[in-house]
Order: sequence, then structure tokens, then C-alpha cells
Amino acid sequence: MATRKSNTLKLKFDTSWSYAPAPESKSAATINKQYDLFINGAWQKPSSKKYFDTINPANEEKLSEVAEANEADVNKAVVAARNAYEKVWRKMSAKERAKYIFRIARMVQEKARELAIIESLDGGKPIRESRDFDVPTAANHFFYYAGWADKLEYAFPNRNPQSLGVAGQIIPWNFPLLMAAWKIAPALATGNTVVLKPAETTPLSALKLAEIIQESDLPPGVVNIITGAGATGAAIVKHPDINKIAFTGSTEVGKIIQKAIAGTHKKATLELGGKAANIIFEDAPLDQAVEGVINGIFFNQGHVCCAGSRLYVQESVAKQVIKKLKDRLESLIVGDPLDKNTDIGAINSKQQLETIHKYLKIGKQEGAEMYETSCALPRKGFWCRPTLFTNVAQSNRIAQEEIFGPVLAVLTFRTEDEVIEKANNTPYGLSAGVWTDKGSKIFNMTRRMRAGVVWANTFNKFDPTSPFGGYKESGFGREGGLHGLLPYLNLAN
Ligand code: ADP
Repeated sequence: MATRKSNTLKLKFDTSWSYAPAPESKSAATINKQYDLFINGAWQKPSSKKYFDTINPANEEKLSEVAEANEADVNKAVVAARNAYEKVWRKMSAKERAKYIFRIARMVQEKARELAIIESLDGGKPIRESRDFDVPTAANHFFYYAGWADKLEYAFPNRNPQSLGVAGQIIPWNFPLLMAAWKIAPALATGNTVVLKPAETTPLSALKLAEIIQESDLPPGVVNIITGAGATGAAIVKHPDINKIAFTGSTEVGKIIQKAIAGTHKKATLELGGKAANIIFEDAPLDQAVEGVINGIFFNQGHVCCAGSRLYVQESVAKQVIKKLKDRLESLIVGDPLDKNTDIGAINSKQQLETIHKYLKIGKQEGAEMYETSCALPRKGFWCRPTLFTNVAQSNRIAQEEIFGPVLAVLTFRTEDEVIEKANNTPYGLSAGVWTDKGSKIFNMTRRMRAGVVWANTFNKFDPTSPFGGYKESGFGREGGLHGLLPYLNLAN
């Protein structure tokens, strides 16, 4: 049972209380025993004849098995996408294309509950997160880009925007449905067709989306969804008839992809790792800031490339903030992702849990002080207690490298110049957060921080109308908003 200890009660009465479990029902989601590849509007057996398991990371039980696409399958999907592009999609009026995208958005909304359950089962994230953020934001992306489809001339006046052709899209496991929406919606709105590959540990919501797409009567081949691991992704990247690669994932794989497409005609957008700095000034509303920091790194298990995994606190309030953080951390509920009370779900995979453990060890070896909550963890599945490190040095690996887990490194600073220098001092530049009461400080910080997004007095806020993307090793290109149309278009002049 998930337990939430009340700190105030504990102090007074040395007792604790817990919420009764409120699990979402698994039966509201239909998951097939086996999934084939969604190519040319139909479910096709893989030429590889191979399937692999996808499991529930919260209990290690098998959920389903999905096809492993090899080069021949990738080729089939690309041929289908090319035919659909040349014969149907590029010729269709933009207004008609918009109707399909709008219909997909509506259907995602209609199936929101089922999609949220599938997302939490397959990925381990709390149902509150998938229900209230992932699925509605995915639907919103389809709605938003449906609106742009017949207005491209207004988005880029006098530039004669033209579609590119076939987009190969490779996505990670942290926001499986939302990333699929981020990729598919702008591609379709700009008149391109798609071959999309979800991550091997979280394929199920994309496959459910394939069912929705099939039901929406989108012309066959416009969207193809194929499953597999790195080799399948690599086959998409190197296919000669792909015009654009859109990738979200690790910096390591991003670099491999960039090398693979160097010297080809392929356009690319890469959204890679991050090591976001959350900065709390002494004049900030501290309770609000602490809640924002908790939301920024611990909700979602830290499985967010823009997670605020470094916290810089102004020295004068550091003690106070660390105390508040520890208290709040202790109250977080870790447990069953399907339970509506859960704050922190399961780590996505055994491999990811091992990476997190490696960094916890490194942090201790580097001399930082580790604090983890006292909550009990379920016996089966992949779990990590929310953890924070204090006494962290700027050069420590836990302050420089992406951990991708519920682990926060806390550092201190005295002046604005110092914290800007420190916050910018990583190989990444995806996002950052500033907490202060002073507007002028916010503007100074946002101007000087080298990060694609800087949130002020909030964190991890997303909206289809806002562009998102990184600097430095966090990648290039923008997704979302009007900017998100650009990577899928050729503009004249
Ligand atoms: P993470 O570290 O977040 O798991 P990865 O970069 O390993 O991220 O994976 C993100 C996506 O990239 C997944 O869909 C994965 O299958 C795919 N992928 C992994 N290796 C390659 C590769 N060499 N080429 C193309 N795609 C790859």
C-alpha cells in the first residue's frame, strides 16, 4: 500500500497515516497478446519473424510481445510512406489533411483513459501524470497542428512552403505517446508522410495510436508505425529514401545519427539530453520554489530530458530550502503507477535503474552527502527512492552528467554572475528554471542562460504553441509552435 507520512503528525504524535489505494482499473485498457507492424494502413507480420516482450516495469510481468522490424520491414514502411506521399498526401488539399489530423486528436481524447492506463502500465509513470499531462497534451498537439495545416502561407509569408517527403521519426521511452504526437502532428500538417519507431521498452501507446490512425481512415501509408530496438532505428536513419530524421533520445545516439546522415540530403532535428539548472534566489517564494523543484525532478521519476536535476540555491536560504526539500521528499508516495495517489512510479527498465545506481555510487565516492527518503519500495519491479545530494561540487559527475532518475544535486551560490556561470557550465543546454520575486532578475537570467527553455517561477510547463529544443549537446531544431513546422518544410528564397 502506498504510504504518505505526515511530518506534522509525526512530530506531534509520532504516528503516520496512509491513503487507501485508489488504483485505476486495468480492465479499461485492451492490450493484445501480440502486435505486428503497422505498415500501409494494415498490420503486417515482420519479415524477421521475430517478436520481443514488453513488460510492466512495476512488476516485471509481460504485457505483450511486439514485432521486431528488420531492414526489409523498414524498407516496406518507407516504400508505403513514399507511395502515400506521392499519390495521395501531397496532392490532397491542406484543408482535407487538417480534417484527418483533427479527427485523430478527437479520437485520442475519446480514448484518453485507455491510453493513460497503457502508458502507465508500459512505462511505469504515475497514472496522474499520464492522465493529466501526457495524453491531453498529445491530443492538444494534434489539435494545434491541425489548425496550421491550411495556414502555412500565413506562417511563412511569401516563402512558398513545400513539404519534404518521408520523415523517419525515432522516439524515446519517457513520453511515448506525447513524443509520437510531437513528431507525427507537425509532419502531417506540413504534408509529409511518416515512419515512426517507438522505444523498445514502451511501444504500446504508439501501437494503440496506430489503431486510432487506422480507425480514423487516414489514407494507408501516410503514417507507418514499426517496432524494434536500436538496429531498427539505425535502419530508418540510413534508408536512402527518407528525407528527414526527427530524433529524441540520448546524446550518444544523437551523435551516431548525426554521423550517419552527414553528407546526405537528409534534414534532421535532434532533441537530446539535458542537465537543467533550477535556480532559487533568496527573494523567491520558497515554498512555491520547493514544490516546483520537486515537480521538476521527482515527479515522473526524473525521466525527463528537461528535468531540473541540478538545484542552485542562494547561500543565505540554502539551509532552509534543503530542510523544506527533505520534508517534502519524505511525503512523496512511491508505488503502483496505476494508483491515483502515487507521486513517483517505477523506473522504466532494469538497465535504467542500474544507471541510476551507478550514479548514486559515484555521488558518494565524489564526497557528496546523499539523502534518500525512508519509504518502503515494492519487492518486484524497478524502483528508486527519491534522493538528493548536498555538498556537491560543480565538477562532480552528478552535477555534470545526465542521470535520468529521481536524483537531485544541490549546489549553492552567492551572486547572480556566479550562478549564471555555473548553470551554463555543462555540455547541455535544454532547459532551466529561475525562482525570484524580481522581474528584472528574471529577464537578466533568461537573457544570459544558454538553455532552449527558461521557466520563471514555474517548471516543466508545456504547451503545443511553445517551441522546445536545445543548445550545445542537447541538440538542435525546435519542436512545438510555429517553429515546429519549419523542420518539415523547404522554404523558397
Ligand atoms: P535512452 O537512453 O533515452 O533510452 P536512446 O537514445 O538509447 O535513449 O533511445 C532512443 C530511441 O533511439 C529508441 O527508440 C531507440 O531504440 C533508438 N535507437 C537506439 N540506438 C539507435 C541507433 N543507433 N540509431 C537509431 N536509433 C537508435
